[in-house]
Amino acid sequence: MQPDEFRRHGHAIIDWIADYQANIRQYPVVPASVPGALVDALPARGPEAPESIEQILRDFEALIMPGVTHWNHPRFHSFFAISSSPPGVLAEALTAALNMQHMLWKSGPAGTELEQVTLAWLIDWMGLKPGWFGEIFDTASISTLHGIAAAREFVVPASRAQGNPVGLTVYCSQWAHTSVDKACIMLGVGLDNLRRIEADDQYRLKPAALAQAIREDRAAGRIPICVVPTVGTTGVTSVDPVAEVVRVAREENLWVHVDAAYGGAAAVVPEFRHYLDGVDGADSMVVNPHKWLFTPVDLSCFYTRRPDVVRRAFSLVPDYLKYEEDPRLVNLMDYGLPLGRRFRSLKLWFAMRYYGHEGFVRMIRNHVAWAHRLAELIVADERFELAAPVTMGLVCFRLKSSDEETRAIVQGINDSGFAFLSQTTVDGKFTIRWAIGTFGCTWDDIDAVWQRVLTLVP
Ligand code: PLP
Repeated sequence: MQPDEFRRHGHAIIDWIADYQANIRQYPVVPASVPGALVDALPARGPEAPESIEQILRDFEALIMPGVTHWNHPRFHSFFAISSSPPGVLAEALTAALNMQHMLWKSGPAGTELEQVTLAWLIDWMGLKPGWFGEIFDTASISTLHGIAAAREFVVPASRAQGNPVGLTVYCSQWAHTSVDKACIMLGVGLDNLRRIEADDQYRLKPAALAQAIREDRAAGRIPICVVPTVGTTGVTSVDPVAEVVRVAREENLWVHVDAAYGGAAAVVPEFRHYLDGVDGADSMVVNPHKWLFTPVDLSCFYTRRPDVVRRAFSLVPDYLKYEEDPRLVNLMDYGLPLGRRFRSLKLWFAMRYYGHEGFVRMIRNHVAWAHRLAELIVADERFELAAPVTMGLVCFRLKSSDEETRAIVQGINDSGFAFLSQTTVDGKFTIRWAIGTFGCTWDDIDAVWQRVLTLVP
């Protein structure tokens, strides 16, 4: 592709994206696609002869777009709204163009250092103390895998060479994300050795129950290694008492990895900083800008106060990657599983600079205010009840009448394509999860979905 052709198509694609962003409300949030539709529509074998960008774009419109769920849609209220902002989209194009991989400082000096700078800015915006070492992975699941791997290195350093001793044990609450379970599978801890500790009536891990479980496990000859408290649980956005969890873990010499994948973002707003109380005492933490900081997926920040331990767990330098030591030199390949790394910090840097701290505060503050306003509408209608307190941008509610009738509301909304809601189970009852946080969402969008919900009440 010659530069002129690239320029022509590039301009056309930017025009397309600008129109898409401007007209996003015209799309159904959830497509009326059926499983296998795209597979059947595309040839079984890749093309032998070259095709033009015009042809490819025609098929993009005709075949791909009908199968797109619009995560950026202002009425996408299903999962934690992983929505991108225009500056983030522009930065993604530059990242692809540069195609730099910074496993070594030398292979990507700007990638290595911008990662340090943007992640330190974010620590400051969240009101945490300086001194965290930050690096970027793709998802919170991978960040948490690294947190628990570091815990194993911290408590049982011999495991790196010899494998796991029997009885490694990890703790989290009943409400922790399944990424903790998956990390235990991956690390050979085993699901049977993940203790899901009882939560209180606000869905927060009970520190006394945690302390007792650790004591009992030790007495039984097991090896507790890690506690994973959550700030903003997926189901109900409850916030575990991190400071107390840290106190228990310190007495027992355990590593604390905080899952603030969603809730960490709330702390950029000064009045929500208290959600991270106690986190400065933890050993590692995950915060996902691709959840609520308007950065295109994927970007997950893994932070640790003990980079020495993470490095001990992961560093392995083959001949072809050997480097000279230098006090300021960071080679990120030493601090984790992946060797190659995308230049992800660029999109975070673009978004942080374009909106500034005050822009992020305004957007997140609005989302939380709208969540409370929606909760007020729910409480005012005696047919409904809130299923959990609103802490951040998530509202959990249900019909008082029955699970079936509540389920029918979610199905009716999602089948219509007008909006996208999700569901969970709280106190054994079917519950609607309504997550507010999409870039571009307004109160009018939320109100419009609420009016639709009302039409579906039997
Ligand atoms: N932790 C929490 C609290 C989450 O809500 C989620 C996903 O929603 C995850 C972890 C997993 O995130 P990821 O998709 O980045 O692995």
